[in-house]
Formats: sequence, structure tokens, C-alpha cells
Amino acid sequence: PNTEQQPWVTNYQPGVPAEIDLPTESLVAMLERSVAEASDHPALEFFGRRTTYTELGDQIDRAAEGLRKLGVRAGDRVAVLLPNCPQHVVAFYAVLRLGAVVVEHNPLYTSRELRHQFEDHQARIVIAWDKSVSSLRAFPDDIEIDHIVSVNLLSAFPTVKRLALHLPAKSLRESREAMTGPAPGTIPWKELLSHGSIDPEHPRPSVEDLAAIQYTSGTTGRPKGAMLTHFNLYSNALQGEAWMHGAEYRKEIFYAILPMFHAFGMTLYLTFGIRKQGLLVLFPKFEPGLILDAMKKSPATVYCAVPPIYERTAQAAKEKGISLRSCKYCISGAMNLPDHVVELWESVSGGLLVEGYGMTESSPVALGNPFYPTRRAGTIGVPFPSTLMRVVDLDDPKLDVEQGQPGELLLKGPQVFQGYWNNPDETQKALLPGGWLRTGDIVTVDADGFTTIVDRAKELIITGGFNISPSEVESVLRLHPSVVDAAVFGKPLERGGELVVAAVELAPGATLNEDALRDHCREHLAAYKIPRRIVQMTETPRSMLGKILRKQVREQVLPTL
Ligand code: ATP
Ligand code: MG
Repeated sequence: PNTEQQPWVTNYQPGVPAEIDLPTESLVAMLERSVAEASDHPALEFFGRRTTYTELGDQIDRAAEGLRKLGVRAGDRVAVLLPNCPQHVVAFYAVLRLGAVVVEHNPLYTSRELRHQFEDHQARIVIAWDKSVSSLRAFPDDIEIDHIVSVNLLSAFPTVKRLALHLPAKSLRESREAMTGPAPGTIPWKELLSHGSIDPEHPRPSVEDLAAIQYTSGTTGRPKGAMLTHFNLYSNALQGEAWMHGAEYRKEIFYAILPMFHAFGMTLYLTFGIRKQGLLVLFPKFEPGLILDAMKKSPATVYCAVPPIYERTAQAAKEKGISLRSCKYCISGAMNLPDHVVELWESVSGGLLVEGYGMTESSPVALGNPFYPTRRAGTIGVPFPSTLMRVVDLDDPKLDVEQGQPGELLLKGPQVFQGYWNNPDETQKALLPGGWLRTGDIVTVDADGFTTIVDRAKELIITGGFNISPSEVESVLRLHPSVVDAAVFGKPLERGGELVVAAVELAPGATLNEDALRDHCREHLAAYKIPRRIVQMTETPRSMLGKILRKQVREQVLPTL
């Protein structure tokens, strides 16, 4: 029973093969081929400055030699804390070149947030933006770090005024201080690159080696370190290539807006973009003005983002009369893509806006809509090539659901991870026998095989009869003119079950009227889904990529009820 996908699941996408040729070499071999073939073509652009593939390859070989001299050996973890910048691309491949493992972090995390991850992976060598160095210094003594290589991004910004536009005031102050030299006690990036190139004979990793430990976003709990091999990441790049089959080698311009320390950005730019020998235009921070500026010199052809970024880019382009018609490949992921964003974006761009789905544990992309008029807005499409999916009972993954019924999404494919670093218990929960990954997401599949996300299983509100999806209630609340955003969750009741609670962010000038909002909900929802308590919050907490952090809202609001 249930070892293959249900017969009503389809992988069919026009022009996309059902299977890919699986990778037989490492990401290092992939990079080296791109460097050899694309040589003088531009690989990176950062505030107008370009780096060719040959220069990129040279910097990677130098950084690899520098890291080797610092003691990095195959299998070692090396922590990276960088925004999107040329050094980030170099650092990623230099670590891989040595057969070592990249561990990415959000460089804006506080010491307290980073500490848990460092305790977990125990990397002793760190490559960090100089702004992040103080967070590392604030670690307790039991976290031992041997060397910090610091990257000063100021040199990339022509004037301090320009920097002020794009960075928070605090970091501006710190960067001014940094102008006087590298963070004390750290190894400046330039010095890392000053020891010549790595011996071309130095052993390279194999396709089965671990390439990255990638922490999940921590939306539902503490971030877990997903172990991804070269095979996993390379497979996802090849699956993406098959999916985006119109994209050409050495022709595409990728706007690297999403952070490369997150799985989505890592695969889009660091692996897929480099594989396509494309030009990566790197943005340390999303800022519509910066994007539109760059469009004049290097118009994007691949513009992948999350819904709020599409909305803001389109609005700014309309206001300033700048064309976005070059944008042919536009993929939204990480959260639900509203119809109005699709309409707005497609009115200005040169291609369809399609929605995909993924998670860190699947490198990350697992499903996508076709880049074709047959794409279906509001759904996450069909499984990627060489990817199988099932929809199963929420309580017992051995039981199938009927077509059209909600159930948990299971995934199987070459992009599925190896388990969580240091965490056999969570690994056992996530990976079922036969290699099926439990996504924790509830989906339905329509008669044509298109999949729609309902919600996360962990965040369903358990009323003791029907379960309630917070997303559904939130989207109804957002329809009300006085509501800007909403987070819905359950309050456990003593007699069992949960009470539906909504925290709403109100439009400027609006006041909270619980009864009016409940009347509004009644028009769209069955009685049991209507929030019993509605409270006001000042700002909806969101993750780096913009996902609502219901868990945080719940923790703040519950004690006040
Ligand atoms: P954690 O696992 O630590 O709680 P997380 O699941 O948010 O955090 P990620 O791996 O970054 O960490 O995100 C994957 C999740 O993002 C998916 O499981 C799914 O819930 C959500 N997601 C991804 N794509 C979409 C999409 N197109 N629509 C709705 N949700 C999506
Ligand atoms: Mg998750």
C-alpha cells in the first residue's frame, strides 16, 4: 500500500519532461564548467560593478586556499553570515571546493537567535559581514570560534549617502566606524584571498557529500538544520532548469533579491543561476528604487520573489514609468500568492507570474505551475520532474485520502534532504520509510491534478468537531476595509478544544469594532469559524520572507486574554 503517488496526481506540464537526468557530479564540477564555458561573460553585478565568470572562478580558488590555510578540511562546517553580495557567492563555492559544508545564517539575527544554531552546528570558522561580528562576539564562552573572516561592504557603496538609503541607521553608524579598518581581531576578506590559488589537484567533493546545513525558517518552532547534499541541491537546479525550459545559457539576468541564506534564494541564484551561466544582479536588501535603477543597465529576465515584493516593484515601476517587460520568468513562493498581485504584476511584466511551493527540506522547490497559460492562479501547480507526491490522512500517513479531500502532502524525489543535523527524533518524524517527506502542509488536489495549499497542519485550530484553517479566516478578515492584516490562532479551552482568536492590524484611523468584524465574517464563513475574540495588534510579525508568524502573535496575545 501507498508507495507510489495516487493515480489522480499528475506530473504533466507542457514542454517539461517527467524526469530529469540525475546529477553525477558535485556542485564544484558544475561551477567549474560554468567558469570555463562562460569565461568573459558577466557572472555578478553589485551596485553597477561587474565580475566575470573567470574572475569569479579565480576568487573562489583564492578563497578556498585562504580557508584551507585557516584549517578548513573536508566535512568541516563553515558558517556564513552575509547579505547578498559578491563575497557571498565566492564564500559558498570556496567552502564547497574544500569538501566542507556551508551553514548559512541570517546576518541580521541577534546574538541570542544565532546562538542556538552555533551550538547546534559548532562551526569554528565564520565568514561574516562586519556588522554581524558584534553578535558573534557576544556569544557565551562555550561557543568556540577559531577565526572570523570579515567582509566590509562599504567599498561597494559609492557614497555614504547611497549607503544611508539602503541600510538601517544603526548599521550606517557601524559601517562608518568600519571605514577605519576591519573589525578588530578578524581576518579581512582581502587577506583571505591573498595566499594564491588552491592546488588544482586538491581533492574535490563527490556528488553524495554533504554540501549545506540549511536551517528552516523557524515559523512553527526552533529552526532545524536540514542536511542537503550536492546531489540534493544540484538535482533541484536541474529540475528548475527543466521547468523553466525557455531559459537560455549565458542570456538570463537573475535579480537576486531573496536572501541567499534562505533555501529559495540559494537554489535560485547560487546553484540554478550559476548553472545557467547567467548574470546575477545582487541586492543586499529589497528596495524598489534600487531595483528600478538596476533595470536600466541590466534588465531582469528572471525575477523571482514573494508576493509583497511583486506588489511593491510593480507599483514603483508604474509610478516612475519604468518598463518591466524584460521579466519573463517570475516565480512566487514561500506563501500564498493573492490574485490581485498576479493581475497587477502581469499588467506590467513580460511574463506570467506563477506560483511554486517548496520547503528547506526539499532543496527547496517541489511543485510549480507551468510557465504557460495553463498555469492556474491560486494553486501551487504540479510536482516537479522526478518528484512524486501523495496526499494522506492527517493522523495516519499510511491512509490515503480521496481525490479532492484535504490531507497532508508527502514528497519524494532527489531533492529531498538527508535528515536534520544532530536531531534523529525530528528526522524520524519527517522522513517516512521509502523516502517520503512529511511536509506538515495540508493540501487538496483538484480534478486536473493542480494542488492547493490549505494550511499548515500544526497551525490548524482544533475545535473538537471541525478543524479550522487560520489562513481562511485571515483572508476573510483582510477583505474588511478597516483591516490591513490578521493573524488567527486557537486558545486552548479547559474542557478541550480551542477557541478561535483573531489579532488584527487596523488601517490608519480605524478603530476596532469586534461586532462589525464578526458580522463581516458571518457573510463569508460558517458559524464555527467566526473568531470569538478579536484583539488589535500594532504590527503583524512576519518572517524574513514575509510569512505571518502566528506563533509569535499567539505567544503575545494569549496571556492578555
Ligand atoms: P519551520 O519548519 O522551522 O517551522 P518553515 O516551514 O516556515 O519553518 P521553510 O522551509 O522556509 O521554513 O518554509 C517552508 C514552508 O513554507 C512550507 O512548509 C509551507 O508551509 C510554506 N510555503 C512554501 N511555499 C508556499 C506557497 N506557495 N504557499 C503557501 N505556503 C507556502
Ligand atoms: Mg517547515
